[in-house]
Amino acid sequence: MSTDHDGFVHALRRATSGPDSRPRWLYVHEDQLTDQVGPLSRTDPSEAGIVLVESRWMAALRPWHRQRLALLWANQRTFALEQARRGVLVEYAVAHAPLRATLPEVVRRVRPPSPMQVMRPAERQTRADLAPLFDDGTLVQVPHEGWITSHEHFRASHQGPPWKMDAFYRHVRQATGILMTPDARFIGGRLSFDTDNRKPWRGDPPPATPPSFTPDPITAEVIDLVESRYAHHPGRLDHRALPATLDDAQRLWDWAKRSCLPWFGPYEDAMSRQSTTLFHTRVSSLVNLLRLLPRRLVEEAEALDIPLPSKEGFIRQVLGWREFVRHVHDATDGFRSLPAPRPRAKTSTPAPTPAATSPADTDFAGFAAWSGRPWTPITHNTFSADAFTPDTGAAPNHLNAQTPLPPAWWGAESGMHCLDHVVRSVWQEGWSHHITRLMVLSNLATLLDVSPRQLTDWFWVAYTDAWDWVVEPNVLAMGTYAVGGLMTTKPYVAGAAYIDRMSDFCKSCRFHPGTTCPVTPLYWAFLDRHRQSLAGNPRLFMPMNALKKRTDAQRSHARDVFVHVRDVLVAGRPLDPRSMPPPPPTRPGHRA
Ligand SMILES: Cc1cc2nc3c(=O)[nH]c(=O)nc-3n(C[C@H](O)[C@H](O)[C@H](O)COP(=O)(O)OP(=O)(O)OC[C@H]3O[C@@H](n4cnc5c(N)ncnc54)[C@H](O)[C@@H]3O)c2cc1C
Ligand code: SF4
Repeated sequence: MSTDHDGFVHALRRATSGPDSRPRWLYVHEDQLTDQVGPLSRTDPSEAGIVLVESRWMAALRPWHRQRLALLWANQRTFALEQARRGVLVEYAVAHAPLRATLPEVVRRVRPPSPMQVMRPAERQTRADLAPLFDDGTLVQVPHEGWITSHEHFRASHQGPPWKMDAFYRHVRQATGILMTPDARFIGGRLSFDTDNRKPWRGDPPPATPPSFTPDPITAEVIDLVESRYAHHPGRLDHRALPATLDDAQRLWDWAKRSCLPWFGPYEDAMSRQSTTLFHTRVSSLVNLLRLLPRRLVEEAEALDIPLPSKEGFIRQVLGWREFVRHVHDATDGFRSLPAPRPRAKTSTPAPTPAATSPADTDFAGFAAWSGRPWTPITHNTFSADAFTPDTGAAPNHLNAQTPLPPAWWGAESGMHCLDHVVRSVWQEGWSHHITRLMVLSNLATLLDVSPRQLTDWFWVAYTDAWDWVVEPNVLAMGTYAVGGLMTTKPYVAGAAYIDRMSDFCKSCRFHPGTTCPVTPLYWAFLDRHRQSLAGNPRLFMPMNALKKRTDAQRSHARDVFVHVRDVLVAGRPLDPRSMPPPPPTRPGHRA
């Protein structure tokens, strides 16, 4: 009987050599596709056996972007072949059940002479699935060697929460010597060049054009599989944007070093409809699969002859933010256990609301409302529903934001060009850069009081680089302030002036950023609604002061805009400048 992986199975058979039993076995989770670190790096290939699981069960859990499924499986299968060619014995299972039900059967088949090892999975969800296998000794966890920093670095950088990336980054720079002078000072005299890195991009230098990749037969088979069996998943599958082999990964990274990193710093916060990439490297998806090792990126970036603000800016993202969010996720058990911040002088930021677990959601963050069909993962799977159902994640909600995620995030037109442009690009590419995630998608959702959990679930399925350890801190903490001041100092919200300054989106919009655009009234309405929670935050002193000077009519107009925009978008309709609540008559000295 033919399967959807015949070509791969034949290729794997052809690539396999050596004895059919091995003294050392390792389970390599789907996001640990490397032989450069961990036990696999230290085992003679002729003595090593590895188990890989292509999980159709996971694929059916959520409405993942099709690009994500294709990227993941193309890399997993390619990694399996690379290992077989090195002489490693590969047991590749295609599974329709959770790992806890799949792996015992595989273990019985390969009969490892000693318990199979696994590097501690980065995802909490995976650790929860594997927990019974750790308990009964089927699997033994060993440290995950893909990280650059340790829990000790994180602990030593703070006395406790609230945690701040800068403090962590400062400590790690000093502890590792990265970007430090021989006499232990920061190269360039400063920890961070962030304040130099906020330029809008006006067309020059030309944006970097990402490389395109030609699918080999292994990737082509995965594309067929995803297009035929996962056609009910959202997102466009772009055949040319599937780096799967080590050569592909190398080509992407070489391009990033050559074409992006020299300009990475100054234009880091810029957005443009002319280029979804600008000078961002697009390496996150492969880094999160360990096809590119973060340590290598940092070392090679450090060695480049490029302007220091760009070099430091990039290193801060990988060595600082990426490692930091992972530590916060771990320290809070994925935000299920939120420590109360230490009381701080002169701030009244209250303790975050205790984390709750959101109810099972067949609407899946608005997927059903948008697509007209419920997301029913169980019907796509063959395992019994109670074998293991991951919980639906922590749902902290510091600002008590309860608006359902509007269909605009799934692709319905909103009439706001910034939002529609970025959403379209996400469903086309499974990716967008940091500032579009933060200052368009999260900003607008936060201004509309969208449920932080729903937004997180959306990001998780829509992006090819999303895994719980990275998407949850970025959305729940940075994007929506759902955990209060636990790891950020303020909500990242802004009005139209910011979007207009940092992008060219407003030029193509039906709204005018200075007059009709709803984003600025939404911003004022947000500050007004949440003034008690946000009062006393030193970083919001100026806007809160400005809020106090607004007239009653202006405040009431902002509230009306909020209600109108929220209701229209939740209903899945586009906004029309002609039907917006009329602004109050302007008085000299007052801005709308
Ligand atoms: C709301 C929101 C959601 C996000 N969700 C994810 C996610 O699911 N997965 C993910 O990898 N990143 C996420 N990020 C962080 C960041 O936006 C992406 O890592 C980055 O845009 C990936 O594109 P790039 O590779 O071109 O990154 P570049 O801009 O080229 O940056 C280089 C690398 O730095 C790392 N990095 C930068 N910022 C962060 C950060 N805040 N957290 C972790 N790593 C970082 C990434 O590995 C990235 O590849 C999110 C950010 C926000 C604001
Ligand atoms: S005018 Fe307003 S809605 Fe339109 S793109 Fe600019 S910020 Fe977005």
